[in-house]
Amino acid sequence: MDFALTAGDLEFRDEVRAFLRDNLPPEMAKLGAMGFQPDREASLGWQKILSQRPGWSVPMWPKEHGGPGWTVMQRYLFEEECFAAGAPTCNLQGTELVGPVIYSFGNDEQKQRFLPGIRNGKDYWCQGFSEPNAGSDLANLRTKAIRDGDHYVVNGQKIWTSQAQWADWLFLLVRTDPEAQAQRGISFLLVDMKTPGITVRPIVSIDGSTHLTETFYDDVRVPVTNLVGEENKGWGYTKFLLGNERAFSGASIPTIKRYLQRIKRVATAQELDGKPLLQDAGFAYRLAQLEVEVLALEMSVLRVIHEDSGTSTGGWAIGSVLKVRGTELQQRCCDLLAEALGTYAAAFYPDPYEHRGQNIALPGPDYAPGVMAELMYRRAASIFGGSAEIQHNIIAKMILGM
Ligand SMILES: Cc1cc2nc3c(=O)[nH]c(=O)nc-3n(C[C@H](O)[C@H](O)[C@H](O)COP(=O)(O)OP(=O)(O)OC[C@H]3O[C@@H](n4cnc5c(N)ncnc54)[C@H](O)[C@@H]3O)c2cc1C
Repeated sequence: MDFALTAGDLEFRDEVRAFLRDNLPPEMAKLGAMGFQPDREASLGWQKILSQRPGWSVPMWPKEHGGPGWTVMQRYLFEEECFAAGAPTCNLQGTELVGPVIYSFGNDEQKQRFLPGIRNGKDYWCQGFSEPNAGSDLANLRTKAIRDGDHYVVNGQKIWTSQAQWADWLFLLVRTDPEAQAQRGISFLLVDMKTPGITVRPIVSIDGSTHLTETFYDDVRVPVTNLVGEENKGWGYTKFLLGNERAFSGASIPTIKRYLQRIKRVATAQELDGKPLLQDAGFAYRLAQLEVEVLALEMSVLRVIHEDSGTSTGGWAIGSVLKVRGTELQQRCCDLLAEALGTYAAAFYPDPYEHRGQNIALPGPDYAPGVMAELMYRRAASIFGGSAEIQHNIIAKMILGM
């Protein structure tokens, strides 16, 4: 299989590079490359800049809904260039999760009302799926919605609702038929975060930030017009959404490549026995080993892209293979990066997004802040979007036929 980029792909990549050079603000790129999770201002700020080019803020959307209509390879190149330049991630719950659900299953009124705000970076979205007893076993969810005239009245609790404290809108899974078999009685609602009865309680996570929250719903009245698709059919839309979440982005090759670049930068500056760490045979061997494994994964991703995921061996379960392997390599890269950093890995670096505008003196070299935050955050990569064990189950069932 020939993975060489076509002349058209190269031209596209140059166009993206030129756009990034001219439009990505240096301060945004500096923070983005550090490893802390971007805040609302960074994500929506970048989304707004991208939306100056039609469709660029929503790379996976088809043209008819305001996307760029790119090929899978163009999307891959775009993501790679954005990461390499240090661009922050957009509000993916909007652009990659709920947006495609709305244009695929929502009605015309919902498309007109919600899609522009996602495209142009006006609205920030969060995802209310997981509950204390419904994570891997999501269909066990208990948050209920009872119809009362033109509204649903929602009561219950969600957990791990990322970035709910910044969100304008929430997409929420609720049980609308308690008598039906688990998957059959679930509905998919779009909820205005300003609705009375919603309480957001931040959770401080191990990377030092508060991007996770618990959310509570007490008699929250949601208009029936905010139901996506049909009542009790929400599980089908959820499977579609989770499939998108685990697709190619699961491998996160652009993220891993950025880690490799950073390991080289740190290991060139840090010294061991009076020489750059990069020249230490043991360290260089381990880095080379990682690079080979990353290259192998990238080849697998490119193979899937060339074969077009839907038709390749194993169907969409291949996304699970890429996610498991990608997550392992992300975590190993972060471990090696922290090791290269040596004693500075033990220093505490406050999240610059949570201390915007404050001039805090930081110990050590400029490449040190964010390394440990990134390492800590990446521990969660084998949990969110479906844990590694659940991906193994999918692979066993759908690819190995066990
Ligand atoms: C950083 C982060 C951000 C998140 N953001 C969001 C968000 O925005 N919105 C949202 O709704 N959720 C979010 N989540 C929640 C995430 O989807 C769940 O954590 C995940 O689905 C696992 O569920 P759980 O935590 O309840 O663990 P559990 O399902 O209780 O699993 C506990 C352990 O048991 C294992 N296990 C469970 N079932 C099986 C099985 N059948 N076979 C083998 N092993 C099994 C799991 O792999 C895991 O190791 C986020 C999680 C994290 C860590």
